[in-house]
Amino acid sequence: MKKLSLVFLGAPGAGKGTQATKICEKYNIPHISTGDILRANIKAGTPLGLQAKAIIDKGQLVPDEVVIGLMKDRLAQEDCQKGYLLDGFPRTIEQAKALDTFENVSMAINIAVNEDEVVERIAGRRMCTCGESYHISTYKADTCAKCGAKLYQRDDDKPETVKARLEVYNKQTAPLIEYYGNKNILYTVDGSQDINDVYASIVKVINDNN
Ligand SMILES: [Zn+2]
Repeated sequence: MKKLSLVFLGAPGAGKGTQATKICEKYNIPHISTGDILRANIKAGTPLGLQAKAIIDKGQLVPDEVVIGLMKDRLAQEDCQKGYLLDGFPRTIEQAKALDTFENVSMAINIAVNEDEVVERIAGRRMCTCGESYHISTYKADTCAKCGAKLYQRDDDKPETVKARLEVYNKQTAPLIEYYGNKNILYTVDGSQDINDVYASIVKVINDNN
């Protein structure tokens, strides 16, 4: 198998994080996210990390060129030579184009879900202060089976919040889907399947195409 350089795309609620972890384990490649890299560089006090910290401390967004610089350094490291999985990067066309100047992305994998299903899935979550969580499709009571406390819905899980997040995501990601589609390296997997079937579909797409 040649170098496996993956870009992972998936709406909130598509189970992207879970799949990313499983795929990285299977192919023995690092899981790379912008947030992790920022934290690591700030902690290590690298020049780019210090630059990023100054910006974050002012409450501003870290600019593209800093994020891209951090990403370039990270992808040049030894553990990325067999491949890697990018999660949350690139987020914009500008980032995608910059990435293309120093790496060859082998595949962009889009975990597609039906929006109504995502809203239903997330809006059906009920939490307990003890840490348990339930879904109204499989759990009908309004108190916790473990501790008896009253269950509640997180503000983030309310249907209108989920819809707003999906809208932001779609606006940001639609151009990336088109970008990788035009390069003929976009692969779409049906994310509404069972978790294990989504995983099997991703593995098949990778094995068939890389
Ligand atoms: Zn409880």
